[in-house]
Amino acid sequence: MSEQSTADVRSELGKPFERLLEILGEVDDLGKAGAVLQWDHQTYMPKGGAAGRAQILGTLARLSHQRFTSDEVGELLAQLAPALSKLDPSGFEASLIRVTQREYGRFKKLPTRLVEEQARVSSEAQAVWVEARQNQDFPRFQPYLEKLFALAREAAEHLGYQEDPYDALLDLYEPGLRTSEVASLFATLKARLVPLVNAITEAKQHRSPGGQAGKAGEAGEAGGDSLLRQHFDEAGQWELGLRALRAMGFDFERGRQDRSAHPFTITLAPGDIRITTRIVPDDFTSALFSTMHEGGHALYEQGIPPELARTPLGSAASLGVHESQSRLWENVVGRSRHFWQYFLPQAQEIFPAQLGGVTVDRIYRAVNRVERSFIRTEADEVTYNLHVILRFELELAVLHGELPVSDLPAAWDDKMQQYLGIRPPNVSLGVLQDIHWSQGSIGYFPTYTLGNVLSVQFWQQALSEEPGITDAIARGELHVLKDWLNRRVHVHGAKFEPRDLVQRVTGRPLDPQPYLNYIETKYRELYGLGS
Ligand code: ZN
Repeated sequence: MSEQSTADVRSELGKPFERLLEILGEVDDLGKAGAVLQWDHQTYMPKGGAAGRAQILGTLARLSHQRFTSDEVGELLAQLAPALSKLDPSGFEASLIRVTQREYGRFKKLPTRLVEEQARVSSEAQAVWVEARQNQDFPRFQPYLEKLFALAREAAEHLGYQEDPYDALLDLYEPGLRTSEVASLFATLKARLVPLVNAITEAKQHRSPGGQAGKAGEAGEAGGDSLLRQHFDEAGQWELGLRALRAMGFDFERGRQDRSAHPFTITLAPGDIRITTRIVPDDFTSALFSTMHEGGHALYEQGIPPELARTPLGSAASLGVHESQSRLWENVVGRSRHFWQYFLPQAQEIFPAQLGGVTVDRIYRAVNRVERSFIRTEADEVTYNLHVILRFELELAVLHGELPVSDLPAAWDDKMQQYLGIRPPNVSLGVLQDIHWSQGSIGYFPTYTLGNVLSVQFWQQALSEEPGITDAIARGELHVLKDWLNRRVHVHGAKFEPRDLVQRVTGRPLDPQPYLNYIETKYRELYGLGS
């Protein structure tokens, strides 16, 4: 590549590029205006605002879609395309043209009629899903789910794919990732996680009711439960969460935390990243870990360079990469011994009555309990991915026409039995537990497990480049890790597809081995299993 300066490149690309930037900026502004309304919707809006808010959000989405898919954008991209081969592919200009082409192509391929029908059916389906879940009534939801799968299948045909219609759906969340890669990754994970869950379950059963707990027994259920199941007042929990965020390097000048029913992160502007948390009075770790999780998402958003703002590059590389950041902070850091060496005294200062006298080892074991449970969002590190793998396998089977939607509840329960050894007592604790399918988000679930796998691959790379990170964490210097992530991951925004980003950061393709080694080492030690 030539040593051209950005100014030279820009003047060569001329007016079409400047005009493209202008339009993309406006599209981004419309999206951010919608984000403010959504944030308010989920935090402070009174119930009565719902109908009016939905209307405004619909209008903003339509305007932004029209603007982005206009013929003018198509013409500008066509004018700029020949220059692509001459530009540095990792530079701002080439990346912007490339990513805009991808997004534009995707939107143009979907007929407006289909997009509108998906929006209408999913909005109806969500309301029905809420009701069906409450009443444990799958047949009520079934026709909507059938319709949503049919629409997803249709969308896949319009979007196009090389091997599998699921590729087209997956690509919406994880650009470039293939179904076959997910299937092989998940097969590897399943082969080692299912036996591990079984071994842990067996080890727990050998530990007695009331019997002598050995070394492993300290991980024990009773110990964990009683420690965490005490009353922790809300003000104290709030303060503890803020301390964790400050230690992580969350910039309160460029963001804030509020409360909401379901924790989330949303970007209102490059200098205004919002997160929310939910406080559970009898378990302080619930809010703490959700705060660290959303904090991890927020550090990513805060770490994206302002030069990428108001363009499609000013966001995360993918959902999976985003989740790698939240999981890294929540689990790899937040559930580590090093973190609690630093953080237990902090927690004891705020909750002396509840936590005074507790050792690092005891809290470490308490926050790492493994439990076979029905609900994905409450699952521990070891069982979590099995919940995701099950969903992936089922949605693939339905999409391929191999499994009728009417058979989903039974198929779900069978897989729960097979992977986790438990059977949901009803559909609300089974097939109806997640909102995703009702929103038409088919192909989304794999990104959660991808995030877990990537979190450890990035972590291992950070350790190899800066071996002092774990000791720094034990001293409360969490910013050492944050700075590394800023430099190596966040700085690229959405310039590269996840595959290229992972290769660039770790020098290797996506690899489940570091993750599996991390899980096995950690939990074999916790549960006193031989290796
Ligand atoms: Zn997340």
